[in-house]
Amino acid sequence: MARIVGAIATSHTPTIGFAHDRKSPDDPVWGPIFEAYVPIRKWLGEKKPDALVLIYNDHVTSFFFDHYSAFALGIGDAYPVADEGGGARALPPVRGHAALAQHVGFSLVADEFDMSFFQDRSLDHGVLSPLSMLLPHEPDWPVPVVPLQVGVLQFPVPSALRCYKLGQALRRAIESYPEDLSVVIVATGGLSHQVHGERAGFNNTPWDMQFLELIEKDPVRLTELTQAEYARLGGMEGAEVIMWLVMRGAMSATLRKIHQTYYLPSMTGIATAIYENDAIDAGVDTVSAHRAHMGRQLAGAEALEGTYPFTLARSVKGYRLNKFLHRMIEPAHRARFLQDEAGALREAGLSSEESDMIRHRDWRALIRYGASFFMLEKLGAVVGISNLHIYAAMRGETLETFQKTRNAPGALYSVAGTDAKSVAFDDASTKASGR
Ligand code: FE
Repeated sequence: MARIVGAIATSHTPTIGFAHDRKSPDDPVWGPIFEAYVPIRKWLGEKKPDALVLIYNDHVTSFFFDHYSAFALGIGDAYPVADEGGGARALPPVRGHAALAQHVGFSLVADEFDMSFFQDRSLDHGVLSPLSMLLPHEPDWPVPVVPLQVGVLQFPVPSALRCYKLGQALRRAIESYPEDLSVVIVATGGLSHQVHGERAGFNNTPWDMQFLELIEKDPVRLTELTQAEYARLGGMEGAEVIMWLVMRGAMSATLRKIHQTYYLPSMTGIATAIYENDAIDAGVDTVSAHRAHMGRQLAGAEALEGTYPFTLARSVKGYRLNKFLHRMIEPAHRARFLQDEAGALREAGLSSEESDMIRHRDWRALIRYGASFFMLEKLGAVVGISNLHIYAAMRGETLETFQKTRNAPGALYSVAGTDAKSVAFDDASTKASGR
């Protein structure tokens, strides 16, 4: 079973990444930032975790206001380094721990946290400012990461209490993962700062000290504060410290703080800390009960013949393929596809297996592989194949045979749209194979 072997808390201000990339540890202004991370690097070197679960907020880099969510869990194998306007930092892409992330995702949703899930999104300074100081990364990062994004920049946002409860659920999720992994939780954000409006430059070091005391000894008190109280005490953007409560909820009621620093060079109180857990491992009974609880909603679905629930695992496996087909919603992409199908498939970097399934319009193989049906109907609309042809082909039947099972056997349709091709009603090869 996986275990939480400790937690790190750290600010994630861009200053940290800037110091890492451009400044020297000998510089008196920047030196304290470097120094703060020396004991943490050493501690991580000793603990050698198998994965980090890293709680952060994106700074409207990869998560824009067109679709802003509260809790978003990264479920992929790799995450690019974000370009935040100045070009991407010279860092290797961050490795993800897809299997752990997917388990955590199922567990959190079973515990009534309606998560959103992402892959293929770049990570900005919310992750990479601290991560570049925490770990060596030449030529690659030594530890995979499960990123957990908290949307704190567009109100309403989750309360401090909700963050704490998410942490408690995160602990159940990690401790029920079947493999023997050691996991470190990394909380990022804060401390006091405000970067917008006439109050820009607000800091409150006495409050930062009190916060550091409370997060260790009385986190429940911190769950009682409103966002307005966090803003009053620590600045509006400093209210992102509620993300530390996710980490705290995942730790035991009492813990040992073995490292702490605080430095306020400019706009943000830069704090770091290490906490160790005295938690007693969850009992085997507890873990197996939780796993049953996690699996309850889909238990039995795998026994339904010809049914392929679109799980996180399928989503990750079929991502590249689904992305290619999803782009059929772009007029230029579908025009390119119609004009030079082989070229479009090659450019997208699809595997030969993936390309072949698309080229052969092998609807059944596509579904079995991990395509979402709703990508198939988009492709159907582009190439002039009706949904009914696709249904028949997935069943391995001729269109006529399948249509006989419908109340209105003459009904053929595709998605509606001014660009959708008229469907191939009477193409003999389509009747035979669904192509
Ligand atoms: Fe932030």
